[in-house]
Amino acid sequence: MATCRVCGKEAAVRLRYANLWLCREHFLEFFERRVERTLRRYGMVREGDRIGVAVSGGKDSMVALYVLSRLGERVGFEVCGLHIDLGISAENYSRVCLQRVVEAFRELGLVYRVLSLKKEYGFTVEEAAKRVRRPQCAVCGLVRRYVLNKMALEMGVTKLATGHHLNDFAVFIVNNVVHANYAYLARLKPMLLARAGLVARIRPLLETPEHDIAAYARFLGIRYADIRCPYGAEEPTKVVGRFLEIVEKRSPGITMMMVRGFIARCLPILESRFGEEEVRACKECGYPTTGDLCAFCRLLRRIGARR
Ligand code: AMP
Ligand code: ZN
Ligand code: ZN
Repeated sequence: MATCRVCGKEAAVRLRYANLWLCREHFLEFFERRVERTLRRYGMVREGDRIGVAVSGGKDSMVALYVLSRLGERVGFEVCGLHIDLGISAENYSRVCLQRVVEAFRELGLVYRVLSLKKEYGFTVEEAAKRVRRPQCAVCGLVRRYVLNKMALEMGVTKLATGHHLNDFAVFIVNNVVHANYAYLARLKPMLLARAGLVARIRPLLETPEHDIAAYARFLGIRYADIRCPYGAEEPTKVVGRFLEIVEKRSPGITMMMVRGFIARCLPILESRFGEEEVRACKECGYPTTGDLCAFCRLLRRIGARR
């Protein structure tokens, strides 16, 4: 029987990258401490912050919500919840997500806001994508970025947290290196500072492997929407993800090393080379943009949606 390295009781989980067996209780402690360290290391939170967690209903952002709620009391920040009902009807996707998210917000007793795209703007992501003949995922990403920022500002959120984890980061890094998108890589930061019209963004699970997120959800009995978006991520991303899994299996810990190394050594160089783009206020809504109209307002115009 494998035993917990801390207390010697029967172990419940093995963390290969650290060659560590832990019982449930000591895993939860280890997990939360690491997130707390990430928050402190990158200066993501301050006492008195109001952290808005963007929750999709999937495992990652749901775990971000629970762990931040638990840490909030210890570190001294407030947590509230944000969810966009994208109106994806295939496989009942958005309905199931909405249900799980609202259950969690209520269970944790949080202040929260749910925005339905259909009710607010008169279209769903599926309808918008069809109308402008662009891929679902591109339209969805654009809409989410814009709407989450708007909701956060309206709710008085000081920082918007997403569920991006270590493996997401690793995949982004490799993908963008492969495609030589260095300007894009320069924006891959643990934290994006607030600018006029833009709320600050943080990625508290940046140093947390997906495997551990799954274990945390299991141990706390977190009920998340265990379905993927029917439109899925694009194929190339998945291939890189699988490739990195193989590499991690052969050399446990290499993913963490790559991501930490990238942030500590590559980011500063990329940032000095690719400064922030000049932006101005969108003529329609005031949101920062490089052109006259922001991407969201252009989308609204093209589909003739109300605002
Ligand atoms: P994804 O691009 O699907 O990996 O999502 C990245 C992050 O965006 C998630 O971890 C969530 O924090 C946030 N997010 C995605 N979808 C939604 C949604 N419908 N409502 C609120 N936040 C979302
Ligand atoms: Zn133990
Ligand atoms: Zn605009």
